[in-house]
Amino acid sequence: MILAIDFYHILSNLEDHVLTDKEIKSYIYALVNYLELNDYFKGVIIKSLNEKSLATYSFETLKIKMDTDFIKRVAVSEYEQARLKKIIKAFINLEILQAIYHEISHIIHNYIAFGSDVPIGYLYRVDICALNDLDISDDDYDKIHNLMIIEREANINSLENILIIIKKYIKRPELFEYYLSKLQSFMLVGYEIKKSIVSPMEILYDGVYHLEVPSISNIDLYDKIKLGLPLKKKDMRTYTNNERNIILGKNNLQG
Ligand SMILES: [Zn+2]
Repeated sequence: MILAIDFYHILSNLEDHVLTDKEIKSYIYALVNYLELNDYFKGVIIKSLNEKSLATYSFETLKIKMDTDFIKRVAVSEYEQARLKKIIKAFINLEILQAIYHEISHIIHNYIAFGSDVPIGYLYRVDICALNDLDISDDDYDKIHNLMIIEREANINSLENILIIIKKYIKRPELFEYYLSKLQSFMLVGYEIKKSIVSPMEILYDGVYHLEVPSISNIDLYDKIKLGLPLKKKDMRTYTNNERNIILGKNNLQG
């Protein structure tokens, strides 16, 4: 299904009206098509997910489900807490886009894991197989969810995209700051700072997967943290001393 949709039109009118379900669907189809991910995507269903998730992508059925009513409700309450002024429509739309980019990231993971020979695909395969095979309770799932590479990346990718969109199309510094600090906190989720640093990957591979922690080289500090890889204390210090600039620099968002 190919829908003629103008990305620019959607993104340049984010302050104008809250995206309708029809626009959301068209946007997702257009993005998948643009990224040539059709083999890993079998449609969008907009429905209630019983307040358990904002959106999901199934690596088995290849469908995205989105609870747009719930996303909008959560967005309104976050907006009120964030004390942002007069940008509610843009804010709700950014929350919708964040959920979309998160699930699109999973489609990309699926492709890289099973349809390419990119080395990092191994790490995605481990997470995806764990999701499918591990017999885990909902509570345990909640615990490991944010430690998984695929979830960290989806959360962080989507916020990187949101920052780029704000910079390009909305130009409201308070919104930019809000999402930048959200990204800062996501980056460090799951790291335990003790005598040494315990990374999300070590917690997951040692404690849950019972697999050897893979060693990954040729990757910069930002990407190491983004993926939740092991870190030396001095690397963590380098990062936390200059967090903002590292994030802005990596994503070409300075100035
Ligand atoms: Zn996810």
